[in-house]
Order: sequence, then C-alpha cells, then structure tokens
Amino acid sequence: CTIDKEELVSPTCDVTFKEINEINGKIRKDLVSLVGTDFFKYFKLDLYKQCTFWNDNNGFCVNRACAVDVVEDWDNLPEYWQPEVLGGLDKVNGTSGSDDECKFLQDLCGGAEGNGRQTEPDIDYCDVGDFVNSQAVLVDLSANPERFTGYGGQESALIWSSIYRENCFSPGEMGQSLAKSVFYRLVSGLHASIATHLSNDHLNTETGKWEPDLELFMARVGNFPERVANIYFNYAVVSKALWKIKPYLSHLSFCNSYNQDVKSMIMNILSQLDSNVFNEDLIFEDELSSKVKDDFRARFKNVTKIMDCVHCDRCRLWGKVQTTGYATSLKILFELDDRDEESKQQVVDKLTKYELIALFNTFDRLSKSIESINNFERLYEIQAAGG
Ligand code: FAD
Repeated sequence: CTIDKEELVSPTCDVTFKEINEINGKIRKDLVSLVGTDFFKYFKLDLYKQCTFWNDNNGFCVNRACAVDVVEDWDNLPEYWQPEVLGGLDKVNGTSGSDDECKFLQDLCGGAEGNGRQTEPDIDYCDVGDFVNSQAVLVDLSANPERFTGYGGQESALIWSSIYRENCFSPGEMGQSLAKSVFYRLVSGLHASIATHLSNDHLNTETGKWEPDLELFMARVGNFPERVANIYFNYAVVSKALWKIKPYLSHLSFCNSYNQDVKSMIMNILSQLDSNVFNEDLIFEDELSSKVKDDFRARFKNVTKIMDCVHCDRCRLWGKVQTTGYATSLKILFELDDRDEESKQQVVDKLTKYELIALFNTFDRLSKSIESINNFERLYEIQAAGG
C-alpha cells in the first residue's frame, strides 16, 4: 500500500496514519473486552422491515443462487458453508413486545434504561424509532461475527450504488463540496471496512478454515490507498465523537453487576483519544451551510434505511450496527451546541441504549480493520520477500 504513514489522514484531521496506529494499539485490548460485555454485545433490529426504496419483489431474490458470486462450486460444499447459512443469524431472541425480552434487558442493563427516551427528530441521522419497533429482535453480536458470507453479485452492487447515489447534494449550496467529500469518505470507509473484515475472516473452501485471504484483501482494499485512507478517516470521525461525549458519560450506568468494570474500560479507551483527531467545525462552518447540513442529515438517514433492503441477514445486522454508529457519531459531532453545556448533557442523556451500543461496536469494527490492515501489510511483505 502506497500510503505515507507520516502524512495527515485528511485536511480535517490533525493526526497521521502512524499516530492512529499507535492509538489503536493502546486501546485495542480494552475495546475487545468492552464489546464482549453483556451491555455492549446485544443489538436490536427489525429483520423484516420493508425496503422502502424499491419494490423488494422486483429484481431482488433471496434464494441461494442470488447470493452466490464469489465461490463458484457451492453445490459441492457442505450445508454449513452454503451462503444462506453463512449469512444467517444465530442466537436471536423474540420480539421486543415480549415480556420475557423486556425483562431480560431490564435485568441485564436496567441502570441504562433511562437512555431509552426518544431524541428530537431533527437532530437524528438514523431512525431511532427502529429499536422500539414491535417487530425488533434482540441479537447477540458476539455469536454472529461479521465475516465472509458469500453475499454479492448484482444484489449487493445495487445496494452499494444506491448508497453512493445519496451523495448528491443540492447544487450551489455553500460548503457543499467539503460536506460531499466527508459523506463520500464515510460511505467508502464503511464499504472498505466491511471488505477488510470479509477478507480477514474468509472461508478457505479447500481447507475448510476461516483465515485471512491476502489476495482478496488486495483486490478489494489494499490496491486502493484511497480506500485504506477512508477507513482511517472514519476511525478519526468516530473517535472524535467518543472523545466529545466523555465528560457527559460519568453518571450513566451499564449493567448493575459490573458497572464499575465497564465504566473503567470505557474511561481507559476514551482517555487515549485526542481532540485533534478530527475538526468537525470545518464542515458546516457558517449559517449558510445549515441547509447543506439538513440535506446531509436526511441523506445519511436514507443510508441507514437502505440497510433494510440488504437480503443477507448477517450483512444487514452489521450494516445496521455500523450505519447507526456513524449516525450517532454525526449527531454528536454536528448537533451538540459547544456554547451550551446543559444542552450537550441533554443530548448525551437522550442517546438510546442502542445508539451507544452501535457507537462503540462501530469503533471496534474500525479498530479491527486497522489491526487487520497492519496484519495484511506484514503478510504482503513476507510474500514479497518470497516467504
Ligand atoms: P462490491 O464490494 O459490491 O463493490 C461494488 C463496486 O463499488 C466495486 O466494483 C467498486 O467499483 C466500488 N467499490 C468497492 N469498494 C469501494 C470502496 N471502499 N470505496 C469506493 N468504491 C468502492 N459480504 C460479506 O461477505 N460479509 C458481510 O458481512 C457483508 N456485509 C455487507 C453489508 C452491506 C450493507 C452490503 C451492501 C454488502 C455486504 N457484503 C458483505 C457484500 C460485500 O460488501 C460485497 O458487495 C460483495 O463481497 C461483492 O463484492 P464486489 O467485489 O463484487 O464489489
């Protein structure tokens, strides 16, 4: 990869690639432990929500053949490796309407229940009502890792092209081009991060093992320095949002039984982050750009809704988690009024449990991508040296 690690990640980030690698090395262990805790390992989503962007039954299919693209000889593979199995979900609990599940969540993380209030609609970058939808189910993220699923072909390409099409702002607005560039980098960084995970945790159909696939990583991400840089950019954006809410998290409680452990893990992570990592004030600088911000917010909300059109369940799950995590970061970065301490505390208090879970899990996904990129770099060097 031809990235100069001493360079700044972007003009809006006062941090180099090397510095992000260093920060990531310091926090990785705590972040892995944090997303494995009972509070952070569950997420809620409506797996059956209707796709609102196009006629779902038209041109989209959900059978195995539609998902086959990457591996040619699926029919000869065991049942366990078929795409609908790889892309399916394990450990899904009943609907939110069920008393059992409410009780489960209440018992599990009762102390954070105060986070469940609705936020003002005009500052949301995703539909927070989705989590209280009566069809929503609870999923154990740790039992459903993000990895290669075999989802691909025209189906996933259509989803990605629809997402990139959202990056068309009204012409002539002030501040448009910087907002456009940020929007593109967020989407491309998400896309590249997913490609990194599916290359890192890939099914070798010859040995039956899940392992990193260097060739696939190079073809999807490594040969495109811009895509690698966009993952680092997203890391900077999400870590700045986390840095920003640090002073307002102290009174939240995360699962009665080990509240203090979870809190100290969070504080260990957040204390390694730096405010210079991203300068959000440059994006929507003046009053004139408030219209662009409204457009940006509405378009990003559409990206989160497009996830309802993804037919591979596990891809949709992680797509929802990560777009919700970015949406939460954008709300924190662009909607907190820096001159008003009380309103900042109120916005953080109103974050739902699921926004917080998505925020930290999205940070973990980016952190894992950066760890994997560094690992792929080592594999590449070994291969280049003839090892
Ligand atoms: P795609 O990745 O589908 O890309 C389409 C086109 O977009 C490419 O031809 C290229 O021109 C352009 N492009 C590619 N990457 C970038 C980038 N970073 N920036 C800018 N442009 C780019 N598959 C899994 O195995 N596991 C998963 O967990 C998973 N999750 C997914 C979640 C979502 C929301 C979606 C939409 C898809 C998911 N997929 C997943 C499928 C995966 O993203 C690819 O679409 C699939 O592997 C086919 O890849 P491809 O090489 O054909 O090109």
